[in-house]
Parts: sequence; structure tokens; C-alpha cells
Amino acid sequence: MDLRQVIRDVPDFPKPGILFKDITPVLENPAAFANAVAGLRDLLSGMPCDRLAAIESRGFVFGAPLALSYGLPLALVRKQGKLPAATRAVTYALEYGTATIEAHLDSFRAGERVVIIDDLLATGGTAAAAAQLVREAGATVAGFLFLVELDFLQGRARLEADGPVFSLVRFA
Ligand code: AMP
Repeated sequence: MDLRQVIRDVPDFPKPGILFKDITPVLENPAAFANAVAGLRDLLSGMPCDRLAAIESRGFVFGAPLALSYGLPLALVRKQGKLPAATRAVTYALEYGTATIEAHLDSFRAGERVVIIDDLLATGGTAAAAAQLVREAGATVAGFLFLVELDFLQGRARLEADGPVFSLVRFA
């Protein structure tokens, strides 16, 4: 199956000039969803990993089955104000303005090898901020895992200083 054919292009979302890669048709197609999770599972099998860190919200959808499949703990990285217990926060630059993500203070342990997962790698700003959360907790970034990578935004170059980058589907 070619997942590239299932991912839908939505022009001008969330603002004019952005071509949004919509993965909801993958979730609504059980064969495609199974194929996506199996592909990510294969990529993860080559990565040393003690814990997965999934980025809100589509990262949760792919992180959860992988965590169950490998018997790994799953940490949630969320937008500011969503996590109930004490958190650590990182603020990072967007094209316009800033965003803040958080993780619970006790989500990561010193020395742990953490793989960060999200649905899509664009500029890499969000994943780099998640890597900072991991490092500030004393854990190690073992790598990054994405269903989709937008090559032309060069997020990979930004992340590779933090750890190896793996993606299942790439758009040039
Ligand atoms: P970035 O921090 O630029 O790598 O953006 C990554 C986050 O924004 C991911 O959680 C994606 O879900 C979302 N995102 C950014 N750009 C796009 C796009 N063109 N299509 C779909 N999702 C995107």
C-alpha cells in the first residue's frame, strides 16, 4: 500500500499558502492505519528505546499502539495548560509568535533513552522543543520518529544534532 496516496492535501489550511498534509484518511482506513503502525513499528525496532514521548495530538494516535506493541512507557508532551500535575515547559518560536509545550516533571527519568514521536515533521521546531524537555529531565533523546516528513522544510537538519530522524513517508 502506498500511504502517500491516502494522505490528503488540504490547501490553505490553517492559513493561506500552507499545504496541510491531512492524515485523518489514514485513520479512517483500517488497512492504511495498520500499514502505518506496522511501518513505524519496524522503524522503531532499530532504535534503542526505554520510553516513547508522543506529541499532542496526532502523535498520541501513533505513539499509543507502538507503546503497547513494545511494552514501553508512553509519556505525553502537551500544549500548555493541559497536563494536571507539576510540569516542565519549553517555549519555542513559530513563524509568527511562540508556542509552549509541557511534560510532567516525573515523565522522564535520568539516563533513560527516549524516542520522540509525532505524525509529521515540518520545520522541526515542535520536536526540537520536545527534545529539550527530555534533556532537561536528564534523559537522552534516542531519536525521532514520524509518519510523514516534509523534506523541503528541512526539519531533519534541525533535529539531527539531537538524535537520528526516521520517517515512513517523505514528500520532496
Ligand atoms: P513543526 O514544528 O514545524 O515541525 O510542525 C510540526 C507540527 O505541526 C506537527 O505536530 C504537525 O502535525 C503540524 N504540522 C505542521 N505543518 C504541517 C503540514 N503542512 N501538514 C500537516 N501538519 C503540519
